[in-house]
Amino acid sequence: MEAPAAPAGPAGFVPAGAGQAEVLETFMDFPAPLALANPALGLVQANLAWRRQFGEARLAAGTALAPDGLPVALPETPGGGRAAFRRIDMPGRVLVVAGDAALRPELDELRTRILQLERLAATDHLTGAWNRSHFERVVAGELARSLETRAPVSLVLVDVDHFKRVNDTFGHGAGDSVLRELVDRLQDHIRPSDLLFRWGGEEFAVLAPGTGYRGAGRLAEHLRVAVAARPFREVGPVTVSLGVAEHHGDEDARAWFLRLDEALYQAKWGGRDRVHTDRRGNSDQWAGEAGGRLALAWQEAYESGEPDIDAEHRELFARANRVIELSLGQPRAGDGRLEALDDLVEHSRRHFAHEEAILGRAGYAALDKHRRAHAGLLRRAGVLRSRLAAGESSLGAVVEFVAQDVVVRHLLTVDRAFFPLFGR
Ligand code: GH3
Ligand code: MG
Ligand code: MG
Repeated sequence: MEAPAAPAGPAGFVPAGAGQAEVLETFMDFPAPLALANPALGLVQANLAWRRQFGEARLAAGTALAPDGLPVALPETPGGGRAAFRRIDMPGRVLVVAGDAALRPELDELRTRILQLERLAATDHLTGAWNRSHFERVVAGELARSLETRAPVSLVLVDVDHFKRVNDTFGHGAGDSVLRELVDRLQDHIRPSDLLFRWGGEEFAVLAPGTGYRGAGRLAEHLRVAVAARPFREVGPVTVSLGVAEHHGDEDARAWFLRLDEALYQAKWGGRDRVHTDRRGNSDQWAGEAGGRLALAWQEAYESGEPDIDAEHRELFARANRVIELSLGQPRAGDGRLEALDDLVEHSRRHFAHEEAILGRAGYAALDKHRRAHAGLLRRAGVLRSRLAAGESSLGAVVEFVAQDVVVRHLLTVDRAFFPLFGR
């Protein structure tokens, strides 16, 4: 499971959950002066040593963070001098340490401890999936990101069929083992940018950023098959029903979940062991609107810091734009769209192999998973190509694949995980 950047609560830590009190206490009592800063809010939390050294008043909100450095306007020591400050980066925040580096190992340990405990507080303990309260924290951010970047976002709701019978026949312990095995299988089949949550009891949700209802429907079908294909260790065959809904218009999260629930209900009502997709969503409109002016624009923030990878990514953008441009016109014999797609796929194949070699040399820990993501994209491109050649594929499918799957979800989301290797 990829670690999402856990959004911090008002105190700078992920709120509530099992470990929070312990994190706070360790942080508060740490012997060196420590503060937690948030790029938007400035300093949000200081420990006791910090307060002793600089006083409470220095904690005033709004102490801005310099984009790439230490928080600006850091306090002076009571004697009027400037203390030395260091920053330790954490997802979404910075830990600021005043003074020398004498406590380096302890600080590294504290950082690891904070991340571990936050992760624990966000995890469902039975299955290891993210828990519902973590979902509540990330969903607002994903919705805002979707509307801002005009990249769709979808949810897949997975509910075990006749789970009560499983419990009644084999016992609650066997039921628990089914839930754990189910989560393992779902984890193995979701994509690196998707997040799996325990939604409640025997219901799980997959949040799929950069994915319209078509892609989410395919994902759901893939998950359904992964569950039904093999018996479960303790109880034999198990099936699931799945509902799919893309976020639509500017509906609030509640309205979105209601459509998701309704889709699941339809899958149950239709006979279980099936997927029902609500075919509404922003993706159609956004793909349509983009006609004529849709071009993927390269931005500096997309750069990994590795020059070869960045050059190839730019090249991939250019070829993706060519495919999108051709896909948006009326299909004509000899319009070159197949050739443009082949060209994009060939470039991607070479780029992926090269990127894997570079990441291998850099000791990238998640390389295997990244390789599988590449292989999956190439497989899908192959399928899309045959459909296109047979005249079965639509504008929506090609644009969605190139713009959403290859560019937004892979280059801009999954690839980002290795940027730290190159100092980004
Ligand atoms: P349907 O196909 O309509 O979904 O039928 P169902 O039996 O799966 O659905 P229902 O909602 O009636 O029952 C869900 C059951 O899941 C009831 C509850 O006891 C069981 N359950 C919920 N959480 C857990 C858990 O953590 N462990 C176990 N073993 N069972 C659980
Ligand atoms: Mg249920
Ligand atoms: Mg059920």
